[in-house]
Amino acid sequence: MEAKAIVVGSSAVGGVCAKALANHGVETLVLEENFKPGKFHKCSGIMSKAGLESLGVSIKECTLNEVRGARVFAGGTELKFEASSTKGVVIDRQAYDERCAQEAQEAGAKLVLNARVEKVSSHDGGFTVSTPSDSFSSKVLVGCDGANSTVARTLGFPPIEARDFVLAWEGEFSGCRVSDPRLVHIYLEPSICKGFFGWLIPVSEDRARIGFASADFPKVREAKQAFLNLAPVQEVLGPTGSASCECVREFNYVIPIKPRAATQAGNAMLCGDSAGQVKATTGGGVVFGGKCAFIAADEIANHFSSGTPINYERRWREKYGGVLKAHNFIRAAYNFAEGFDNGSVLKASLAVGNAIGLPGFLSAKGDMDFIVS
Ligand SMILES: Cc1cc2nc3c(=O)[nH]c(=O)nc-3n(C[C@H](O)[C@H](O)[C@H](O)COP(=O)(O)OP(=O)(O)OC[C@H]3O[C@@H](n4cnc5c(N)ncnc54)[C@H](O)[C@@H]3O)c2cc1C
Repeated sequence: MEAKAIVVGSSAVGGVCAKALANHGVETLVLEENFKPGKFHKCSGIMSKAGLESLGVSIKECTLNEVRGARVFAGGTELKFEASSTKGVVIDRQAYDERCAQEAQEAGAKLVLNARVEKVSSHDGGFTVSTPSDSFSSKVLVGCDGANSTVARTLGFPPIEARDFVLAWEGEFSGCRVSDPRLVHIYLEPSICKGFFGWLIPVSEDRARIGFASADFPKVREAKQAFLNLAPVQEVLGPTGSASCECVREFNYVIPIKPRAATQAGNAMLCGDSAGQVKATTGGGVVFGGKCAFIAADEIANHFSSGTPINYERRWREKYGGVLKAHNFIRAAYNFAEGFDNGSVLKASLAVGNAIGLPGFLSAKGDMDFIVS
């Protein structure tokens, strides 16, 4: 089977990319390894409202909650900020991914399910993409196949180093007690969440996604119980063994926190987690991955209409490389601070933040994607 462009992976970023390509009039084929599109809920599903809306996918049906601020805990110290209007939306991530695929197909992209790409080879005229049962060819290829990208590996893109990943555990709990569903919780606990943090994303007053990530992969499994025993987490879950509170879903998954050194080789491109287009502060990748997919689609369309070389790498780095670097810088500064005195520096930083009026500044100016608005 042939198409002008093949997109590998039909999750949040692949769907946005395929829809944009099809809207530009590029004949597009999407290959997805699973029996349906999406990440199967392996995500906390919180995005900035403005950022998610900017991707143009309808979020009406998959929005579960709206949030406007956060409570940040370090030891016994808390810093709280709350904007006057909605800043983030909590979504049904699987429903969102399926919606992305549906809109891509409505725009004209063709989706092939149960098509696990095993090998990609490039030749003069383009690419040959092989699954266990079929072979597909295209002039242009976009790998939207996530953190363990087969496209990146088989085409020899530089790897994302192991130190630039964190490993997460998350559970969704029903029957818990969320005191204010408009506020997310952030837990700064270096002994448990080394190089990252823990979180609570409220879905409703009695439902929340609670998890943490760490750069210390082997410790994640054993740290889970210690995390669930943290006082502010217990406050939400209720006493250990509480019959009303149930973990309805849990998973482990990796998050890349730094862009790959190269994300384009000729007419092959990587978008989303495969490119490492993720905020190093929070691990959020849906918005920036989608924004970069727009740039890829635009460049590919220009290439087909006017023969210009694809200029994806330079364009996305010019537009979003700076802000992703700023997220990285904050992550590096945080990691430096957490290394001191087992978290007491973090605790002191929150106290100083409270003293100098940081909550007021964040409430007025904080932006989930661009740091300040
Ligand atoms: C615990 C956790 C919490 C997170 N929370 C948030 C959050 O709240 N907000 C946010 O913005 N981001 C969050 N993220 C990150 C976010 O989930 C990713 O940035 C986002 O899913 C990236 O989308 P993607 O389409 O690039 O990759 P993925 O969603 O990983 O999708 C890759 C797709 O490619 C398919 N695929 C893979 N290999 C192949 C192959 N060989 N052949 C064919 N198909 C293939 C997969 O089946 C899948 O459909 C979180 C991540 C984790 C792990």
